[in-house]
Amino acid sequence: SPPAPRRPIRELPDELVSQIAAGEVVERPASVVRELTDNALDAGATQVTVRLLAGGVRLISVEDDGSGIPREELPIALRRHATSKIGSLQDLESVGTMGFRGEALAAIGSVAELTLLSRCAGQASAFALDARSGELRPAARAIGTSVEVKELFFSTPARRKFLKSDATELAHCIEAVRRHALARPDVGFAIWHEGRLVEQWRPATREQRLADVLGDELIDQGVAVEYSAGPIRVSGRAGIPDLARARADHQFAYVNGRYVRDKVITHAARSAYEDVLHGQRQPVYALYVEIDPARVDVNVHPTKIEVRFRDSREVHQAVRHAVEYALAAPRAALALQQEQ
Ligand code: ADP
Ligand code: MG
Repeated sequence: SPPAPRRPIRELPDELVSQIAAGEVVERPASVVRELTDNALDAGATQVTVRLLAGGVRLISVEDDGSGIPREELPIALRRHATSKIGSLQDLESVGTMGFRGEALAAIGSVAELTLLSRCAGQASAFALDARSGELRPAARAIGTSVEVKELFFSTPARRKFLKSDATELAHCIEAVRRHALARPDVGFAIWHEGRLVEQWRPATREQRLADVLGDELIDQGVAVEYSAGPIRVSGRAGIPDLARARADHQFAYVNGRYVRDKVITHAARSAYEDVLHGQRQPVYALYVEIDPARVDVNVHPTKIEVRFRDSREVHQAVRHAVEYALAAPRAALALQQEQ
């Protein structure tokens, strides 16, 4: 067929640019929960409360007791590429916050009804900003921020069609909070669905949080991981081979406090179990890698779930050794006991 007649090149309208960008960041309600929880933690929250209706499709509300946003900055927070977290390329190279791209609120606001309600220290009242109308009005709340997201994908029915049942979307939302909860045991988390409290994790030590979120067996039948090599520290907990499961749903990896799905870490952990785990069984672990921020690039993917290491071999080795030593320790102790 003949080529379609050429159309002139034009810049896309802002709204459409945001909607296109939103496709990368906001896949489902759980993506909204992830981004809003990131923001709450970046604001120094000690308690994060997530409320959902219909698996998050009808309503997602995330409340925190963090720093809040000053009235005059509320409209800026909703703009694309607007952030308080970095200001230069140098900042980007050593970023310590979960967010830094200034995309989430703009993206969410372009595919849902979004209201920002916030009060910062020194402000006599809170203010609420409706993203769609731009209306800004005084409101009531303690210091901190609440973000309300209603009717996700209401204007993009094609995307809405990809959503699964409420129960499935709820499970993904809970998983998103679980990932944060394992990263930040010092912060309290609560998840409500349809007015019912479905999960609550109170501030705890890391060990206690691991038990609260993943169950006691990772404590009872797991070994502590603690290992350092040059610029890398690996800590956490690894389940003994008996704890291995059919599915890889109890494998959590963090890099500088950020949940990641990383082939290097997954492969390294897997190979540490090579000799003790047979067949297709999946080990259970929560591993926290700390590394000089200059040796890892977090700006690889809009959701930041992927990272790139400057030297992936050193990371692979550190993780593998960390888990191998941890798994070997109880066997070495047992052997010693039997000798005596
Ligand atoms: P990013 O997190 O990458 O900076 P976002 O679009 O998620 O981009 O948020 C934009 C800005 O809005 C943040 O940089 C922050 O200053 C402010 N903000 C968003 N959520 C909160 C919150 N819960 N508490 C305090 N400030 C917030
Ligand atoms: Mg953010």
